[in-house]
Amino acid sequence: MRHFKVNSDGSGLAASDVAENFSDLHPPLSPAQAAVEAARCLYCYDAPCINACPTSIDIPKFIHQIRSDNLDGSAKTILSANIMGGTCARACPTEVLCEEACVVNHTEGAPVKIGELQRRAVDHLLAKKGPHPFARAPETGKRIAVVGAGPAGLSFAHRAAMLGHDVVVYDAKEKAGGLNEYGLAAYKMADDFAQAEVEFLLGVGGIEINHGQTLGKNLLLDALRKEYDAVFIGAGLTTTRQLSAPGEALDGVRDALDFIEDVRCASDKSKLKIDDNVVVIGGGNTAIDAAVQAKCLGARNVTLVYRRGPEAMSATGWEQDLAASNGVVMKFWASPKSFSGSGKVETAAFSEMREQGGKLAETGRNFDIPAGLVLKAIGQTLNEKALDGLKIERGKIRVDENYRTSVEGVYAGGDCIAAGEDLTVQAVEDGKRAAHSVDAALRLPKSGDLR
Ligand SMILES: Cc1cc2nc3c(=O)[nH]c(=O)nc-3n(C[C@H](O)[C@H](O)[C@H](O)COP(=O)(O)OP(=O)(O)OC[C@H]3O[C@@H](n4cnc5c(N)ncnc54)[C@H](O)[C@@H]3O)c2cc1C
Ligand code: SF4
Repeated sequence: MRHFKVNSDGSGLAASDVAENFSDLHPPLSPAQAAVEAARCLYCYDAPCINACPTSIDIPKFIHQIRSDNLDGSAKTILSANIMGGTCARACPTEVLCEEACVVNHTEGAPVKIGELQRRAVDHLLAKKGPHPFARAPETGKRIAVVGAGPAGLSFAHRAAMLGHDVVVYDAKEKAGGLNEYGLAAYKMADDFAQAEVEFLLGVGGIEINHGQTLGKNLLLDALRKEYDAVFIGAGLTTTRQLSAPGEALDGVRDALDFIEDVRCASDKSKLKIDDNVVVIGGGNTAIDAAVQAKCLGARNVTLVYRRGPEAMSATGWEQDLAASNGVVMKFWASPKSFSGSGKVETAAFSEMREQGGKLAETGRNFDIPAGLVLKAIGQTLNEKALDGLKIERGKIRVDENYRTSVEGVYAGGDCIAAGEDLTVQAVEDGKRAAHSVDAALRLPKSGDLR
């Protein structure tokens, strides 16, 4: 478990401490470490790790290729299933995916470090900056629009381009990558890796990206449908849920995602000012990442408050341990009641909670936490206004098993759809599979062609 430099005595952190905190969470394996780790793999015939990976990477094969010093081949095995294998190697919660399923857990008590081996192979290939490892099929003459340059949109674009289609991506932001660029914790994506991966992915050719293009503002779904042969939406979840608690509009009460974005975008993180008392509200990845990054910036007291118990948090046990072992105080069974302060937030008030008949109820006991910064991380929702005409189901775009929405010619994948988990690796898989679905539909003969 990584231990960051923290401001335990209130004297602050030196700029060099902050820089060190935001360096790689897991330093890459050396060639010797990778060889030792690869030798631990049992190369199971019916490898359960493959089923546990949402992108079904042939894990025994890529590990065997590392063992036989074929790093290029290993990277190609990974990237043919998951073009963002570099980000996934850094960000996947492997402890609940491939590594949880690893048979070596039962024989040696710890799994093969699949994520770290994956990173070794992919980083090797990307660092070479050689020709792109995948060739495009002959051009089909079909044009596809993609809304959103996050993992889902980019994975879709890469696969559709490989299949011979021309792809035009539209994104609201200045940089491509979606939450890989603006959301994942800075220490998971050190050294501008998100942009290096985007550059690599575009090397396949046939993909154009247009920035500052927002569906529902200066981009309309109807117009895209008329101009292109198909449209893929990978716009993620961009609206943050609000608490509706008194004092929420006070200065210093803000969305955790905006705070995380500010941290990701700052070239010198030691220049970012952080309050001594930070309170984070929520129980997922976003809450943990906000709390740990506040600690990394030098906040003295960081308290994460969640309305249920630790087992109900969507952040994994490993993520919770990372926060707790770096001094984040975790308070469970408490819900925000109000925020107060003169002009700027100074105190966050909470009600103690308990479960009663399967529902959350207040116990009647309340407590206050001093707070100069409150970060709300209680979930993201779909911006439905931008998706006029598409059927929405339980707050997400409804799609069928082929990623088709309720509107003909419009497909969707990633966080914005109902199926699957909100993980980078799942978004990559959605994009890849949706591209095959669109490809199959575009290759169907039209009724006139059959005459
Ligand atoms: C703080 C945080 C930390 C996370 N950490 C992890 C982690 O460690 N590991 C992990 O596996 N997953 C993590 N996740 C989840 C993961 O980031 C997402 O599941 C993944 O990014 C989803 O990909 P996507 O392409 O569907 O959406 P996004 O990554 O959100 O990309 C959507 C893209 O669409 C663009 N867009 C949005 N609306 C519009 C519009 N109207 N018009 C045009 N463009 C638009 C956005 O600018 C963005 O580029 C985290 C999520 C958050 C919020
Ligand atoms: S993509 Fe993620 S889940 Fe799949 S093998 Fe790699 S690290 Fe494991």
